[in-house]
Amino acid sequence: MSETKRDYYEVLGVSRNATQEEIKRAYRRLARQYHPDVNKSPDAEAKFKEINEAYEVLSDREKRAAYDRFGHAATQGNFGGFSDFVDFGFGSIFEDLFGFGMRTSGVRRTPTRGADLRVDVRLTFEEAVFGCTKEIEIPRSETCPHCGGTGAEPGTTPVRCPQCNGLGEVQRRQHNPLFGTIVTRTTCPRCEGLGEVVTTPCRECRGAKRVRRTRRLQVDIPAGVDDGTQIRLAGEGEAGLYGGPPGDLYVVLSVDSHPLFQRHDHNILLELPINIVQASLGAEIDVPTLDGPVKLKIPPGTQHGTVFRLRGKGVPYLRRHGRGDQLVSIRVVVPTELNEEQRELLRKLGETLGTQNLNEESRSVFGKIMDAIGDAFKGVD
Ligand SMILES: [Zn+2]
Ligand SMILES: [Zn+2]
Repeated sequence: MSETKRDYYEVLGVSRNATQEEIKRAYRRLARQYHPDVNKSPDAEAKFKEINEAYEVLSDREKRAAYDRFGHAATQGNFGGFSDFVDFGFGSIFEDLFGFGMRTSGVRRTPTRGADLRVDVRLTFEEAVFGCTKEIEIPRSETCPHCGGTGAEPGTTPVRCPQCNGLGEVQRRQHNPLFGTIVTRTTCPRCEGLGEVVTTPCRECRGAKRVRRTRRLQVDIPAGVDDGTQIRLAGEGEAGLYGGPPGDLYVVLSVDSHPLFQRHDHNILLELPINIVQASLGAEIDVPTLDGPVKLKIPPGTQHGTVFRLRGKGVPYLRRHGRGDQLVSIRVVVPTELNEEQRELLRKLGETLGTQNLNEESRSVFGKIMDAIGDAFKGVD
């Protein structure tokens, strides 16, 4: 291809020892003459590209020096580090010439999803068990209602970004002793890649496209939630940008403990203290449950630690039918403050009981202890 290329100096119509100023002047004159928007002749575009290509090289001291030494080879694909960065895009040169650039086809207006938000909500034990509705307040960003998220005051139009000429990205050239000139392209800091800048910012959001709002939301907490349960409210997070969807809101629940009930998943544990008479003779006792008191029949001879199950009196399953159970654990309380009359009654009871009334289990425990002691004594002998 190099042999078909015209000499760059010839293209711009300048001598080989032209100053940078002369090169720039020649370029401006020719670019105006052959710009495709101005010049409608069929070869204008090719000519225009050729002019820009020549100017791209001759206006850059390093490229010009390389071109002077190696000719077009300096701009071909196999020429060291030089060829890698030669980029004959025109955008950057147009701006100061014509005040407008090439079509901004490369503009990136990537829709960005809004961030997720989290809010902590504290529930009483009963609220978690049976569900409730909670009103929460969340500060969040929302798409500006005044400008609809453009950032521009309604009625005004954003203009092409002067820093990147609407390309949405800028080039940075750095000289590196090993690799020569390195060109990096980064998102334009002025327009953030949009290619447009707002001249009259929206008076509501001052051009930020989003505004801070504190929203009140009703959150339906379903029955059966537990400490740490998260409820996701889709689309209630921060607003997105450039048409991106909003984030989600996560409601994270913490549940207070209950003075009587302990929760184990969907079962409720309750410890029920009874006295030795109730335990011995049996009784009917009002037991507190989540649904109010329930009569529980304690059979005669109920031992400490016996567990009774009240079916369906536990916590509702989350988002499905049915409930867990309530487990009632019996705690036999030995009386501590007895008057003389009560002591006398117990003494009489004691005379009649002896040790015969110890049940099988207790006897076997007693026996094991005696065996262990016996073994210990044997060991000593
Ligand atoms: Zn606005
Ligand atoms: Zn820009």
